[in-house]
Amino acid sequence: MAVKHQDGHHESMIDVEDALSKILSVFSPLSTQESDILRTNGMVLAEDVISEINIPPLDNSAMDGYAVKYENIKNASFKNPKSLKVVATTAAGELPYSALSNNESVRIMTGAPIPTGANAVVPFEETGDEINCTSSNTANEVRIHTSSALGKNVRKAGQDVKSGETILESGTVLHPSHIALIASVGKASVKVFRRPEVAILATGNEITKPGNKLHQGKIYDSNSYGIASAVMEAGGNPTIVGIARDNFESIEKKLDKCNKSDLVITSAGVSKGDFDIVKDVLSKNGTIEFHSVRMKPGKPLAFGVLRQNGKLVPLVGLPGNPVSALVAFEQFCRPAIRLMLGHEFIPRATIKAILDDEIDNQDGRRIYARAFVYKKHDEYHVSLSGVQSSNILSTMAKANGLAICPENKTGIKAGETVTVMMLYWPPEVF
Ligand code: AMP
Ligand code: MG
Repeated sequence: MAVKHQDGHHESMIDVEDALSKILSVFSPLSTQESDILRTNGMVLAEDVISEINIPPLDNSAMDGYAVKYENIKNASFKNPKSLKVVATTAAGELPYSALSNNESVRIMTGAPIPTGANAVVPFEETGDEINCTSSNTANEVRIHTSSALGKNVRKAGQDVKSGETILESGTVLHPSHIALIASVGKASVKVFRRPEVAILATGNEITKPGNKLHQGKIYDSNSYGIASAVMEAGGNPTIVGIARDNFESIEKKLDKCNKSDLVITSAGVSKGDFDIVKDVLSKNGTIEFHSVRMKPGKPLAFGVLRQNGKLVPLVGLPGNPVSALVAFEQFCRPAIRLMLGHEFIPRATIKAILDDEIDNQDGRRIYARAFVYKKHDEYHVSLSGVQSSNILSTMAKANGLAICPENKTGIKAGETVTVMMLYWPPEVF
């Protein structure tokens, strides 16, 4: 949507939602790959996982104790114990003892297969004569102190998973419990959507790599590191390409190295300064969709597609100011990465919280105020985490969320409810 400026010229500033849908429209889930299950935590399953076996594979004991026929000990009690002959010992991993006869028992360990003919397990604690009952020296009789029930302490074959059952559906986001479940049915690898390769390029004549000496007039590159970490947190593989200077040749040379990436993220050089040429480089080497978004911070934001040796590579040109870069990453790059990873739900979680301070919205942009959410009397509250200027990283570092004032509201007063996009859930306040 074109906005008329006071000085009369037009600027193509677009709404956050339009920008997001334009960006997302060029992405789709990436190719799938068979992966070692150890590498799949947090990734999205790209196939149904079907078990070829029962879990557990055999009826087995839930306790260390004696496998019995429950009918034999129906009337047993502490005062009136029932003696059974001990005919064998079975440990986990061994074959089941075949054919238990009347008034016999098998000394059995947790996970060991139930003897044929047994239908209950009495834990050691409910028996006597435990003296001399080691596996090397098995007592030949055991006294049972309690009655049992059919199937007591017996874990049935297939109770957890049945052979032929779909244990996980395509689209599941894998967590440790899923990975354990996959391993439990004997699979060492599964098909997942691959992780996006994300190239990160800082631009600016003033930018210096951390660890190097800082010369007068220069600043350290914080953007590349914040963005790379955010890429990893979103599930992507970041590559820091380096620092390009504010000229065509330098930026083009660095972009040449990015043609294997699924996404290129640059920082700086997208606003209206004399040396802000990232969008011109993008127009020259591809197409540019927009370069200004109705949000604060993050207004100068370019998006387009680079054409490199016949390959099309989407490029998000984040603003240079470090807070704007991180906030715009959250809004536009993270969802794109999640989409490529095959996630069905790509936005951050939002909550409603009671605002402690005031958010003022002068110029009809969507405001993302860096803020700290905490829980009090089972209600969420949120305080702005300090100065909101887009260069002040220290107040961003104090925030665990972004409180959002919509573009059509002139502000939100203290005590009102605000929507907060959550970045972290620090356990000490939740
Ligand atoms: P620009 O968009 O190039 O005008 O940059 C806006 C502001 O962000 C300037 O103050 C830059 O010095 C700063 N800036 C640009 N790139 C970085 C970076 N990689 N790390 C930290 N600050 C940066
Ligand atoms: Mg600059």
